[in-house]
Amino acid sequence: MTSLTHPVPPPSRRSFLRLAALAASAPILTEAHFALAAQTTAQASSQASPKRRLRGEPAPGAVLINANENPLGPCKAACEAIASIAPYGGRYDLYGETDKLVKTFSQQSGLKENYISVYAGSSEPLHYTVLAFTSPSRGLVSADPSYEAPTVAAKVTGAKITMVPLTPAYAHDVKAMVAADPTAGVIYICNPNNPTGTLTSKEDIAWALENKPKGSVLLVDEAYIHLSDSPSVLDMVGADKDLIVLRTFSKIYGMAGIRCGFALGRPDLLAKLGPYGQNPMPVTGSAAANVSLLEADLIPTRKRIIGETRRNTLAWLAANNYKVIGDSHSNCFMIDTGRNGRSVIAAMQARNVYIGRTWPVWPNAVRISVGTPQEMAIFQSAFKEVMSTPA
Ligand code: PLP
Repeated sequence: MTSLTHPVPPPSRRSFLRLAALAASAPILTEAHFALAAQTTAQASSQASPKRRLRGEPAPGAVLINANENPLGPCKAACEAIASIAPYGGRYDLYGETDKLVKTFSQQSGLKENYISVYAGSSEPLHYTVLAFTSPSRGLVSADPSYEAPTVAAKVTGAKITMVPLTPAYAHDVKAMVAADPTAGVIYICNPNNPTGTLTSKEDIAWALENKPKGSVLLVDEAYIHLSDSPSVLDMVGADKDLIVLRTFSKIYGMAGIRCGFALGRPDLLAKLGPYGQNPMPVTGSAAANVSLLEADLIPTRKRIIGETRRNTLAWLAANNYKVIGDSHSNCFMIDTGRNGRSVIAAMQARNVYIGRTWPVWPNAVRISVGTPQEMAIFQSAFKEVMSTPA
């Protein structure tokens, strides 16, 4: 965390060492790690060369729709900001890029500056929240299927992990989640959900917040919120409720490789994350994020482009009688292939199309990220070929 304007009270030496040991044992796994793990498993039966397999490097010309990245990349203003700050990269943050970013987001969101912590992506605060608020006596509750990263961190703290199936409409079943563990420390809600792209209503999230176990926090992951029409719950942060909201610049802003994200919450909640990581932000990430926020057209334009490609792909899948699970409002969706999903991933990879992984609860379903229209056309013909071959 680098928001040097908002220092976190230092923990005692003893608790610092204990927390540092815990943090050191906690791998920060991102979407890229999960995507690579699925790819490496599938590759065992694909034709990729051993060298590429070891390096996890895709073959030239590969279609990469396996990590929910944004093929549009950083906007032009972000690339220019990166180029102009790079010569000053020998200093930690000479011109206060991270403070500028905090100010901009504060003005746009209405949150006070000390409610905003900046990290190199949202994976770090996601892990730190779970490390800070779960323990052997305070569990994690997550939807099933949902983004796996919280469960990885909960295994480190020894917390009980309770997975609650999505509703028949593939929303988070907030009533079941709240009832699932009366001593929960964290209830994780990903809206829109990864991997289904399905939505959970703001009313349901507000209900969970009001009815959650005492002493727990809601961790609301808004990584994909800008791709949907779903309202944010940031106003609940402003109202000093017991929640931390995560935002990332890896999705609509196309900055997964540049790295920037936010943890948004009451200062006393954010302070609990402090002991796990104090790394300064790369100035390139902060500068690029700041100008991206100031691009008024970025969100509506990219939402339209990605939404159109998603709708066209879904229409093609429906016309060809393939079964999509739920109604995605994001840059990814799940297809029930009716056969072992891993074999489909391997067969697609052999055709140089890298699709996303399966989830244990749905072994026949594979996640597809929305790429460019050209990439989705290549996906369609490869998918049709694979699915026309007997399983
Ligand atoms: N949360 C969700 C739901 C994600 O899907 C991802 C990445 O795909 C992240 C958080 C972390 O993203 P990053 O660390 O790149 O900001």
